[in-house]
Amino acid sequence: MTRTALIIGGGPAGLMAADILSAAGCAVTVAEAKPSVGRKFLMAGKSGLNLTKDEPTDTFASRYFEANPHLAPMLCAFGPVQVRDWATALGQEVFTGSTGRVFPRAMKASPLLRAWLAQLVTAGVTIHTKWRWTGWDGPACTFDTPTGMTRLIPDITVLAMGGASWARLGSDGHWAHILAANGIPTALFRPSNAALSVPWSAPMARQFGQPVKQVRLTTGKDTVMGECVITAKGLEGGAIYALSRPLRDGAALMMDLMPDWTAQRIATRLSRPRGKTSLSNHLRKSLNLPPAKLALLQEFARPFPADPPDLTPLIKALPITHTGPRPLDEAISTAGGLPWSALTPELMLKSRAGTYACGEMLDWEAPTGGYLITACLATARHAAQSALASSG
Ligand SMILES: Cc1cc2nc3c(=O)[nH]c(=O)nc-3n(C[C@H](O)[C@H](O)[C@H](O)COP(=O)(O)OP(=O)(O)OC[C@H]3O[C@@H](n4cnc5c(N)ncnc54)[C@H](O)[C@@H]3O)c2cc1C
Repeated sequence: MTRTALIIGGGPAGLMAADILSAAGCAVTVAEAKPSVGRKFLMAGKSGLNLTKDEPTDTFASRYFEANPHLAPMLCAFGPVQVRDWATALGQEVFTGSTGRVFPRAMKASPLLRAWLAQLVTAGVTIHTKWRWTGWDGPACTFDTPTGMTRLIPDITVLAMGGASWARLGSDGHWAHILAANGIPTALFRPSNAALSVPWSAPMARQFGQPVKQVRLTTGKDTVMGECVITAKGLEGGAIYALSRPLRDGAALMMDLMPDWTAQRIATRLSRPRGKTSLSNHLRKSLNLPPAKLALLQEFARPFPADPPDLTPLIKALPITHTGPRPLDEAISTAGGLPWSALTPELMLKSRAGTYACGEMLDWEAPTGGYLITACLATARHAAQSALASSG
């Protein structure tokens, strides 16, 4: 008899689970709360859709912090090489950028999502949109749908409802309340890859939108070289995201504005006579400081010391006063969610046989760089393949 599989959530994790289960002959239904699937995936495509990173699997898996032991076997089975092959098989040529990040040549998600959905429809997958999972009623999954409450009793259920950021795209984290009501506690959601709130003074408004290139950011023992952008709300961009974990725990942030220059070289330049030149102009001319960096120095190093070389320690370690990460909903991804302790190694809920979970709803986090989508796909494959194996 044909096995029935229900996938709840139509993001990349849910669609990958649907793919595996339908290819194995299951009658698959995807239930998606929003009017269309893959909304966050499409949003990820707006910045080019960084699918994965071209690096050895061991290095790749080491980027998932405490979740590494859980995820490493899944990433070994479906890691950077397999993600490239998968996208290529869907007709999407991919390329590797200078930093090793892998993107579809189209630099967006819509062609890939279209091809993927066409493949799923051909495989007989039924996709119901505007179906919001509301919980369990005995063996049944219950849904709010446009035609009222609906119940389904599948052989296999895969939960793939995402994390708890960008709620307008569907991943509102509300599922955590449903699980809690069923005795499955979740780890607190926390912003990951999040921008930083900085209470700027009024003059900083001139810098909003300006990139701050080639800086070294330090929080305690964590150091990142990279760039960020000054926004009306604070600082965002790769280097800030990479320090999300310590920053959300309240770590102080230091910025080296000239990481390629030694303190000695900066001090020597600043010792040059400046005549009647203002200190700002002296800084700009002798150090070639771009306006955004000069503005940061003025924001956080005022009042300037009388003797210019005394500014050197601040140029090398400028304390950035911040009030922590931007709110959870603005984060690119979320830490927390369904804890590993609630799951078997097959990603089945210990308290509910036949129900599996995958994607960003699991308790892991990783930096940007393609690690997020890759782990969503890898956990979805693992959950779906485990479900097939155990349901015979
Ligand atoms: C701006 C931005 C850029 C990003 N760029 C990248 C990138 O370049 N590379 C990368 O690796 N990652 C990127 N990410 C992260 C990546 O998009 C996510 O990690 C990924 O989409 C998570 O996949 P998922 O399937 O687990 O969850 P989601 O994609 O969040 O999908 C979950 C789905 O479940 C549905 N759902 C939720 N609750 C219910 C319910 N009760 N009933 C039914 N359906 C429900 C939601 O509507 C949603 O469609 C980016 C994220 C953002 C916000």
